[in-house]
Formats: sequence, structure tokens, C-alpha cells
Amino acid sequence: MSMTHSSNAATWLDSTAINETLNEATNLAQKNDKQRLRELLAKAGEAKGLDSLEVALLMQTEDQDILDEMYALAKKIKEQIYGRRIVLFAPMYVSNLCKNECLYCAFRAKNKDLTRRALTGEEIENEARILVNQGHKRTLIVAGESYPAEQGFDYIIDAINRVYAVKGDKPGAEIRRVNVNLAPLSVEDFKRLEDAKIGTYQAFQETYDRSVYAQVHTGGKKRDFDWRVTVMDRAMEAGIGDVGMGVLYGLADWRFDTLALLKHVKHLEETFGIGCHTLSVPRLEPAHGSELASHSKYAVSDHDFKKIVTILRLAVPYTGMIMSTREDSEMRQATLELGVSQISAGSRTNPGGYAEAAASGKFDESQFQLGDHRPLDEVIKDLTERGFIPSNCTACDQLGRMGEKFMPFVRSGKIKNHCTPNALSTFLEYLIDYASPETKKTGQALIASMMESMPESTKQRTQQLLDNVNVGQRGCLC
Ligand code: SAM
Ligand code: SF4
Repeated sequence: MSMTHSSNAATWLDSTAINETLNEATNLAQKNDKQRLRELLAKAGEAKGLDSLEVALLMQTEDQDILDEMYALAKKIKEQIYGRRIVLFAPMYVSNLCKNECLYCAFRAKNKDLTRRALTGEEIENEARILVNQGHKRTLIVAGESYPAEQGFDYIIDAINRVYAVKGDKPGAEIRRVNVNLAPLSVEDFKRLEDAKIGTYQAFQETYDRSVYAQVHTGGKKRDFDWRVTVMDRAMEAGIGDVGMGVLYGLADWRFDTLALLKHVKHLEETFGIGCHTLSVPRLEPAHGSELASHSKYAVSDHDFKKIVTILRLAVPYTGMIMSTREDSEMRQATLELGVSQISAGSRTNPGGYAEAAASGKFDESQFQLGDHRPLDEVIKDLTERGFIPSNCTACDQLGRMGEKFMPFVRSGKIKNHCTPNALSTFLEYLIDYASPETKKTGQALIASMMESMPESTKQRTQQLLDNVNVGQRGCLC
């Protein structure tokens, strides 16, 4: 492992080499060499990942047999590593102030139709209180790239501190992990985020294609491709172990961007010994005042989108994958089977959106259009009926299993002895404290059936946690 200091240029991003790999895969795909593709899938089945050409070959294939085998394998790997657990969170948009001109986003500076707003400290606490009283334990703070002038970056640090300090009506009603999705920062500001005890720092490259990047980012600091593409180097240099990355699918060629994203992950693994904690797969959605968001020539079809999720699961099996409420419930359900391990639920994407929705049920002024509007309890009930365990577990943060300590724990398989008991214990907390009677019923039945099929060693540990929750303890984790 060689620690380098963050540089201004991403030498690992070699567009020519990526295009050559894509061309080679296109040529090879014409032969439709099923034998070779099956060998690839056999390798992927060992959960050791795939190289660039292998990924490119899978991206090219349209052979239905191979596609079906690929989907089945992704499902198998996902279940091996993550079981049936699905981690839940809610985004919290604290501000839509932004100096950038990202042509696909409603928050862009020149969109004059938007009421600009940065929540006050009290409003942030109010949003957090609404979330914890719904049963959420994790939130993702999101903001545009501009902070209130009098506070600067202190605004975000203050927001994080306030969210962690909020206590809801029931015992244990609190946010236990605050993740952030913020514009790229300096090493110094990243150290402040680390001191504020964030979970994951998340930023999406949007596209790794420099020329498309320049066309769609026409103003503000975000125009600087190199500042953005080196952001995770600075985060890791500052000691942030859990980073979340992604491409905004639909801006540029998805094949190029997927290969580049995987090169980026590899670069972090090689440089810092820690890969990427989570990958997100945002897909361009219509956004107020954006022509591009609705009419991109690179729009990704549902078919290709499912392929992307599947291939990412095979290529980086141990990296969590997040699906937001940009997608409708049907796509979210389909991709849960293929590789997604975390979803947002009951989301609002405008500052103050939870208080506003609680008051009137309406939500305008969103950053982009949402596909899944269902409240948290409905999402949980639906997951439960499909045999998924909704998890609010934050044990790894609380017990210090983050960054470089996290991956060995996952790869050794030891994590499994902890995740299922913790998932069930946090799920039982939800059922007792927040669930509707119908969700409670299906949830209790799921816990009972999970307990029945559990190996004896894990069963004892789990029963102990469940007993603690049943007698009123909260935050019981192992
Ligand atoms: N402003 C910061 C930035 O751009 O990095 C962080 C917050 S920004 C609100 C979060 C993400 O929303 C962006 O990185 C982008 O990928 C996504 N986004 C913007 N417009 C979108 C749209 N029309 N559809 C889907 N996602 C969008
Ligand atoms: Fe601002 Fe982020 Fe939207 Fe770009 S994507 S306009 S930086 S909020």
C-alpha cells in the first residue's frame, strides 16, 4: 500500500485505454463466445471481482441465456454476502443554495424559479425529529455547493452536530449514522467532517467523460473536472475511511462510465488499501427547468440499468450498492434481487421537505422527480413481504468497524455473524416502536421464520438481542 498525497491529475483515468477495452469487447462480442462468457461468470462466482475486459464483455452481451445466468449469479452472490438484509436511510436536504450550473439539476444557479433556502439550525433539528419519529436511524445530509455566507462550511458541521443531538419521542429514537453528499472539499475540511463523526462521505463524479463533463457543467467550481475526480484521494488523505461514489447514469455513455468508475475504485484500493464503501447508481430524472434531464441522448433504458446493477455486483461484490427513490418501486424491487443492499425510503429532496409534507402532503421544489413516493412503513412492509429484512443496523460505526477495518471483516465472512442478529434486533425495535399493525404482523412472522432457519450459534446470539429489545432496551448491537 503506497500512500500518496492527492494530486491534481487522475493518472489512473486513461480514457484511451478504456475506449480500447470497449472496442475490443465489441469485436469479441460479435463471436458470441458463450464458453468464454460462462468462464467469466464462473470466475465472478468466486466473488473475487472482474477485470476491465471481463466487465466490458458482460456489458456487450445481449445473449438471453447469458443474461439470465448473469442475473441469477448476481442474486446468488448478493445473498451469500449480504443475506436478505436491506439497510434503510432517508436523505435530508438542508440547502438548495448553489453556485454551479449543472444543466441537469433543478438547484443550478440560473434556475430562477426555485425559492432558495438554507434551513436554520432549528429547522434542521425539526427535520431530524420527524425522521427519527418515523423510525429512521440513518440519514444522508445533502446540500448544493454554496453555504450561508456568515457560516461557510461551519454550516454543515453545525447541521451534523444538531442531527446527532436530536432525540425523538421514544427511547432510542435518534440518528445513529449521518452520511453526507456534498461537493468536493479540501483535506482540511474533510478532517472537520471526520471529527464530526460522519459515516460515509459521498460524491458522484457524474461522468468520467471529460468532454461531456465540460458540456453539462457550464458554471461554478464544479466545472473543474480534476478537482472533482481527485476528491476521494483528499477524503482518504484526511482519514475518511468510508467513501461513496457513483456515476449519474444518462449523462454519457454508460459503458465508458462504468469502466471508469471501476478504475476509480481500483485506484483507491491500490493507493489507500481501502476501496469504496458504497456505490450509488443514480439515473437521470426529469428536473425542473432542465431540458437535458428529460432529453439526454445517453438516457439509459431499464434493460441496461438492470445490467449495470448486475455487473457492478459481480465486479465489486463486497461494495454496498445504494438505490434511491429516484427509481420507481418496480425498479427498486427488481434491483434488490440483483445486487442493491441499501435503499432510501420516504424521501423528500427539497430543504424542509419532511416538515412540509407533514403539514400538507405536497412537495414541490424538489431537486429532481421521485419515482417512489411511498412512506417508510409501506416500504418496510413491502420488503418484509418479499422476505427482505429491513435493517437499521449501525453497529460497524458504533463499534469502530469502519474504513480499513471494515473490508477485512467483510471479506473474512465474520461480518455475517453480526449482521443478521443486528438487522433483526433493529428491525424488532422498528416493529415495536413505529410500525403499523399490518407491518408488525408480517415483520414478526419474518423474524420467526428467520430464527427457525438460523444456525444454532447465531440463533443464541440473536435471541439474546431480541430478548433485550422485547424488554425495552434499544440500540442492542453486537
Ligand atoms: N451539490 C453536491 C454535488 O453536486 O456534488 C451534492 C448534492 S447533489 C444535490 C447530489 C447529486 O444529485 C448529484 O451528484 C447528482 O448526481 C444528482 N442529481 C442532480 N440532478 C439530478 C437529476 N436530474 N436526476 C437524478 N440525479 C440528479
Ligand atoms: Fe448544485 Fe449539486 Fe445540483 Fe450541481 S448537482 S446544481 S452542484 S446541487
